[in-house]
Amino acid sequence: MFNALVVTKDDEGKTHAAVQQLSEADLPQAEVTVAVEYSTVNYKDGLCIGPGGGLVRKYPHVPGIDFAGTVESSDDPRYKPGDKVVLTGWRVGEAHWGGYSQKARVLADWLVPLPEGLSTRQAMAVGTAGFTAMLCVMALEDHGLKPGHGPVLVTGAAGGVGSVATAILANLGHEVAAVTGRPDTEGYLRSLGATQIVPREELTEITRKPLESETWSGCVDAVGGAMLGRVLKQMKYGCSVAAVGLAGGAAIEGALITPFILRGVNLLGIDSVMRPYADRVRAWERIAKDLPMDKLEAMVHPATLSDLPGLGRDILKGQVKGRVVVDVN
Ligand code: NDP
Repeated sequence: MFNALVVTKDDEGKTHAAVQQLSEADLPQAEVTVAVEYSTVNYKDGLCIGPGGGLVRKYPHVPGIDFAGTVESSDDPRYKPGDKVVLTGWRVGEAHWGGYSQKARVLADWLVPLPEGLSTRQAMAVGTAGFTAMLCVMALEDHGLKPGHGPVLVTGAAGGVGSVATAILANLGHEVAAVTGRPDTEGYLRSLGATQIVPREELTEITRKPLESETWSGCVDAVGGAMLGRVLKQMKYGCSVAAVGLAGGAAIEGALITPFILRGVNLLGIDSVMRPYADRVRAWERIAKDLPMDKLEAMVHPATLSDLPGLGRDILKGQVKGRVVVDVN
């Protein structure tokens, strides 16, 4: 028997999340059984711990879109007992049972070997949020981002994606401007390497102007909404925004075509869920190399399985700072 956070749905359609004991026979059919060591809390986890936001297909459900641990048994030649592995995405924790459990059973295709130099705990301090932040940085670099060309803007900076993006960009030698709606996070954001703090309200007013002053050499945008509409108008000539999230709205409000056709601005879409294996390996290797581990540690808030219902509510309200690491044991 082992412990897991199980979400059930009652006859009135209300969901309830509680730690329960499960047996191996309860786990879904798949190739690799993993003894999970750590998981984490992302925005999507908040949805799946609660009413599901349309992501969860069947109840009872075990959420947890990320986990890291040790292979216990494997029917696939790529993995053997004792291998350290990490999993993010592939709709694990949404359509499939996830990492809020001491054991998980998944397809071998969904796993990535833990990169050299990272522990399972560090991998979950990174999690989907940090992995996606790295994908954003890689996409910006692939489109010409180089240090020394002006500040890179990070929106939703005190959140998971934003915190890791700030630390990676600063470590790579970029000047980082961090947008936050929480003024009390200024010290934290500066400790990650941000040199400029932009209050959220400076970027949420919708303007009619077709363009604003050319300010940013790149942007990692976790917020969307009115902020993304404004940021596009403030990008320097030929520079790019990596659009990764919608914490502030699913539409691009107030956006115009002008930044694209007069300044050659690029809007790069970033998805981490279905990302092909080769990109995943490349991103995890870059994380191990380019994310300073002392800064990662400064983002971590430790938690246990029983803390998850409260943390799920907090992340949906934008109240989680940095990265939660869940020790499932
Ligand atoms: P967090 O909740 O940790 O961070 C989001 C941050 O956005 C908050 O901390 C807050 O930052 C800011 N924010 C929240 N609400 C608003 C608002 N109404 N207006 C402006 N800013 C706001 O979430 P994550 O970092 O884990 O995820 C960020 C976004 O990225 C989510 O939308 C998530 O779904 C998406 N995502 C997408 C992925 C992909 O594959 N494309 C993968 C991972 C995440 P502050 O307090 O500093 O202002």
